[in-house]
Amino acid sequence: MTSAVSEAIDGVRDVLSRAGDSVVVGGKPGPSATGEVIDTLDPATGEVVASIAAGTAADVDRAVAAATRGLRSWQELSAAARARVLYDIAALIEEHAEQLATLETLDNGKPLTESIFLDVGIAAEVWRYYAGWCTKISGQTLPVSPPVGSSFTYTRREALGVVGLIVPWNFPLLITSWKLAPALAAGNSVVLKPSEMTSLSALRLMELIDEAGMPPGVVNMVTGYGPDAGQALIEHPDVAKISFTGSTATGQRIVAASAASLKKLTLELGGKSANIVFPDADLENAAQGALTGIFLNQGQVCCAGSRLYVHRSVHDDMLAALESAARGIELGHGLADGTEMGPLISAAQRDRVEGYLQAGTEQGATLVCGGERPGGELAAGSFLTPAVFSGVRDDMRIAREEIFGPVLSVFAFDDESEVVGRANGSDFGLAAGVWTSDIKRAHRVAHQLQAGTVWINQYNMLDPAAPFGGYKASGYGRDLGEESLLGFTQTKSVWVSLD
Ligand code: NDP
Repeated sequence: MTSAVSEAIDGVRDVLSRAGDSVVVGGKPGPSATGEVIDTLDPATGEVVASIAAGTAADVDRAVAAATRGLRSWQELSAAARARVLYDIAALIEEHAEQLATLETLDNGKPLTESIFLDVGIAAEVWRYYAGWCTKISGQTLPVSPPVGSSFTYTRREALGVVGLIVPWNFPLLITSWKLAPALAAGNSVVLKPSEMTSLSALRLMELIDEAGMPPGVVNMVTGYGPDAGQALIEHPDVAKISFTGSTATGQRIVAASAASLKKLTLELGGKSANIVFPDADLENAAQGALTGIFLNQGQVCCAGSRLYVHRSVHDDMLAALESAARGIELGHGLADGTEMGPLISAAQRDRVEGYLQAGTEQGATLVCGGERPGGELAAGSFLTPAVFSGVRDDMRIAREEIFGPVLSVFAFDDESEVVGRANGSDFGLAAGVWTSDIKRAHRVAHQLQAGTVWINQYNMLDPAAPFGGYKASGYGRDLGEESLLGFTQTKSVWVSLD
């Protein structure tokens, strides 16, 4: 480990020393009811960096009870006062950006520059965006025509109550912010369940939320394993909604558990996104977009452009450019200078990805480069070199299933309608990319693609104002934008007799 990495870790030691008190109920951090802990590993070294509380159903019960009490104090504040708290959280995130980014990189493995600009930077903007919404949630007056007499009728957008937020490990602080900020702006109280692999930034965020003056009990957190703490949250009868990002299998479990209490759900369940390069595209930009589209965050991105469709006339040149760029990507500890790609989240995730590399080769695709475990000082971490497959058929497992790792499948296509059909021939529908200089084709194809987000001549762009979510098996409901906010409200019609 270089001295820069050790120094960065030393800089967050005080936060790591508080990790055992990661169950936050009614504003008070503490251990889990059982006193059990879960080790948190640095995926770049495999070393234990902290131990977080292993919360269970008993902790979730306490957290939901605190959130039920906290709801009142939050809703008694004026909209402007609630907005001020959210603005202050945004400012505190920016003030502690380096510390939060260091925790994120240590926990998840991604390069520090990504943590600073993408995770922490956008998280602060998300809080600011939803702070603005607090004073703008409004209903309508309705021109009703009752059969007798007359009425004045209007709608109110009301909070749902206590909501449960279940967050994965790929963008811990960012996705926590995507869900928490709109839930609070809409007047709800919250129980947050981060991934047990990446709870450190959420732990620090809880402290900053307290510092911003959030009334106790409005935001509660139970860290712990999904099947324990997560399952208790999705089954809890007093939780009105679950907003979840993660695997399709867990999403299906949440749908089943929600039936008993008819919880409202927002589910973001990943994808197998098609990135399409037409021959009239700026090919240098398209190659760069294809690389960041798949290799950002080690490919552990729900909207990763994992299926790259390249027009046959430019396919070989594009493949050569991708291979050369992929081979040049610098792997290393996320806290080390010059690192362009960190480790995967865990050894288990690397095993999963390697299973797909094997399946791809066995089914006849050509592994052009990558997919190897680097040696030397990286051998102890869960690193995998960026992989590119060519000669992939649409029916192969690597073309159909979400790999969630640095593995790009490249396909050749001949014409527009063919590629649109192939892009849409997926169970998923989260995102897609189109690279072309023909403005008519760009919009025509974007309109035909079955995906919640389509990027034209760019990839992986996100903004707090733009809704994000999936078609088909990629889930339902939306994160971000006004839609996310409205998803944390319910509409009430109020009728007043004027007779
Ligand atoms: P999961 O869906 O299991 O994890 C996502 C979140 O759900 C975590 O906070 C997890 O907790 C929680 N969880 C797990 N089981 C339950 C449950 N029974 N009830 C409630 N919450 C639960 O994903 P994995 O970590 O297992 O990753 C496997 C695959 O899922 C990846 O390879 C990828 O394909 C996909 N995935 C997609 C993501 C996306 O952004 N769409 C994000 C993460 C994964 P804990 O981690 O503490 O167990």
